[in-house]
Amino acid sequence: MKIKTKLNLGVGLLFLLIIILSLVGAFYIFSIKKDTENILKANYNTLEYSRNMLLSLDEMNADEEKAIVVFETNLIKQIANITEAGEDNATYNLKKVFNFLKKNKTDETLKSQIRQDIFEIMKLNMNAIKQKSDIAKHTAEAANFWIAITGTLCFLIAFNLLVNLPNNIANPIKELTASIKEIANKNYSQRVHFMNHNEFGDLAKSFNTMAEKLQEYNNSNLYKLSFEKKRLETLINNMHDPIVGLDNQGLILFANDEALKIIGLKTEEVIGKLTATLALTNDLMKSLIVSDFQNESRKVLPMKIFADGKESYFEKEIVNITIKPTGEDQTIDIGNVIILRNITVFKELDFAKTNFIATVSHELKTPISSIKLSLQLLEKAETGNINEDQKQLIESIKDDSQRLLKITGELLELSQLETGNIKLTIEKSNPYEIISYATEAVKVQVELKQIDLIIETEQNLPDIKADSEKTAWVLVNFLTNAITYSSENSKIIVKLKNENNQVVFQVIDTGKGIDNRYKTKVFDKYFQVPGSHKSGTGLGLAISKEFIEAQNGTIGVESELGVGSTFYFKLTAV
Ligand code: ADP
Repeated sequence: MKIKTKLNLGVGLLFLLIIILSLVGAFYIFSIKKDTENILKANYNTLEYSRNMLLSLDEMNADEEKAIVVFETNLIKQIANITEAGEDNATYNLKKVFNFLKKNKTDETLKSQIRQDIFEIMKLNMNAIKQKSDIAKHTAEAANFWIAITGTLCFLIAFNLLVNLPNNIANPIKELTASIKEIANKNYSQRVHFMNHNEFGDLAKSFNTMAEKLQEYNNSNLYKLSFEKKRLETLINNMHDPIVGLDNQGLILFANDEALKIIGLKTEEVIGKLTATLALTNDLMKSLIVSDFQNESRKVLPMKIFADGKESYFEKEIVNITIKPTGEDQTIDIGNVIILRNITVFKELDFAKTNFIATVSHELKTPISSIKLSLQLLEKAETGNINEDQKQLIESIKDDSQRLLKITGELLELSQLETGNIKLTIEKSNPYEIISYATEAVKVQVELKQIDLIIETEQNLPDIKADSEKTAWVLVNFLTNAITYSSENSKIIVKLKNENNQVVFQVIDTGKGIDNRYKTKVFDKYFQVPGSHKSGTGLGLAISKEFIEAQNGTIGVESELGVGSTFYFKLTAV
């Protein structure tokens, strides 16, 4: 049954019951009223007339005329109010006797006859009053009974409606609300089960259809998603670089075959495990999760891992994955992907190149040195006289061989650094001595360019932990560059100061300066600022960086284009 019909019926029924109850009540009230009214009208009045007639009969001796008039008036009223059986006889008798009395007013027998008739009438009416009051009583009892019955019936029906009707409406709504919540929580298998033939039945049918469609849609999406996931997994698996995916808690979400191969564990031993737990037993895992970027200036060394049956080199990259959830403004961190790039081939080539450079520069050093020696011999008077042109040629050969020697020296130095053949002897060294050694080394160049070399050193500086030879080499390199990139008659300041338990060496020039974008690059191997003179190798600063960092120091430059540069390095005091 439709809810609307149900509600109409329920309310209608209640309405009907109220009407019935009112009708029954009204009917009985009317009946009782009629009964009592009857008594009043039919009998009470008769008694009143009778009483008046008796009184006027008694007064007849005193005022005869008035009494007769009163008696007659009441008699007429009584004649008009004959209601009971036998009352008519008694009344006509009374009228007859009263007519006789009017003619013979002193006849006591007639008066007593009249009294008897009046009493007869009164008796008849009193009996009637009793009878009618019994009837009224019965009517009242019947009224009580029927009103109670109808009232109880009304109460039962209303109570039934009160209990059932709200539930009938509220229960399906409750079930529907719960089901909608389930659907909102992505439980698309949820259905509602009220299949009544009413509005809720229709609603349930529509809801179930909707849920079914959502489930179907979700399943198709799931299929698509799982297909895409498989595709990605296959892609990651087929990549030649080891890849490990972590969530933001460090839990391993995926690791491709290459990664598993180098870690040396099976999928089930890795997936779903915490990296920190695995790191306790697996050294490679430990080095994988260590952040290499604690010190930005330090370069990240490639990882040496035994893979593919040989020592292999991997470059580690940790990619932080962040997403912006739909409808939100903040990006959240959802984990990291560790990618190991196999750089073994490049490393091997690099080794080959370094070895080649080392061999070549080593092999070149001896002939160049002997050229220099021969030149010195040529310059001597014993070797023979040389004219001015020849002298100039010899000078130029000397310059070139000097440069060649510097280049081969730097190349050799670098290749030794790369192969790890250079061993630093870090010991307690005096910074003042390093400064004086370096400034002495560049004395000739300074004089040639007529540069004012100013040395500003703080007093009583502590000794430093350093390899004095290599540190002096770096300082000489700074000075040579400063001289090269400064104009004649300019000024170069060499500063030595203390800063937070570190001794700072500074070479300040007023040369051409370095563009901001090249400031970090000048420390890269073979890098030369575009436009600078090509005679150098671009290796000096790279080697300097290696030397200083190997001594746990820091190196850097502050420079402004066209104003000058300040190259510095800091080494720890003893
Ligand atoms: P190079 O052998 O070319 O001097 P370096 O490694 O010593 O190699 O220097 C790298 C580059 O840095 C140089 O080519 C030059 O452009 C720039 N540079 C170094 N020192 C200075 C300086 N004092 N003023 C301006 N530029 C400099």
